[in-house]
Amino acid sequence: MIEKKINSLSIWFFENLLRYERIGHFVSTRNGGHSKAPYDSLNLSFNVGDDPKKVLKNRKLLAGTLGIPLTNLTTAKQIHDGHVRIVSDALRGKGSTNYKGAINATDAMVTNAPNICLMILLADCVPILFCDPSKRVIGVAHAGWKGTLRFVAHNTVKVLREHFGCSPQDIVVGIGPSIGPCCYQVGQEVLSQVEHVLGTGQDHIRHKSANGKGYFDLRTANLKQLLRAGIPEKNIEMTETCTSHHPNLFFSHRHEKGKTGRFGAGIFRTPQPAQGH
Ligand SMILES: [Zn+2]
Repeated sequence: MIEKKINSLSIWFFENLLRYERIGHFVSTRNGGHSKAPYDSLNLSFNVGDDPKKVLKNRKLLAGTLGIPLTNLTTAKQIHDGHVRIVSDALRGKGSTNYKGAINATDAMVTNAPNICLMILLADCVPILFCDPSKRVIGVAHAGWKGTLRFVAHNTVKVLREHFGCSPQDIVVGIGPSIGPCCYQVGQEVLSQVEHVLGTGQDHIRHKSANGKGYFDLRTANLKQLLRAGIPEKNIEMTETCTSHHPNLFFSHRHEKGKTGRFGAGIFRTPQPAQGH
């Protein structure tokens, strides 16, 4: 990934997605916004206890910086599940100005509608951005440990393939900043479920101790799902940046002990070359 300063914000971009001028995307950082501690400062979530007026100002600032209308931002009530929602133009702007209006109960969204910016919100979970540049279809997925075990990444590829006729060979993917295997220690109850669903002795579990604790490599687990779904490795860009290791750059639920904001990852189609190009 590369970081670019645009106006007052610092935005991260996937180099593989920047190759497509008519596809815009972003991963926001926590800096340059209006929220006060512990949400300082570019918190984009209406659902973490922050002042909604500040969140709205932050979202306006981000949308303005990206050169898109605020009402194109389309968000979901994320529930750590494996369901994928196809977003039609009728759902454009859902949740853009409040939490209540967000699309119900989904952790992944896909669309081919032109004026929709699909955005997921994060603080340690894995953001995954998808696009098929030839078919101009885009998608996002939010994968924590539960979503990973419910195959949200794999399911997103399945919907792109079955609903939009995308070929996995054409799908380009970015896997963004999230809690790394360096910091994501999980207990026995989580690890046993990981092993049950994904198998034992895999490289997504590290340093398993005698008491059953270990470190879960969420990004690698999702990378493997995408490869199994048929996406070529050369089409996938995965950052190693750990949110918990960089609490000054990104919100981290684990590092901030649960009381923190959310950064965003989004993707959209655009008639002009998008910001960052
Ligand atoms: Zn770390």
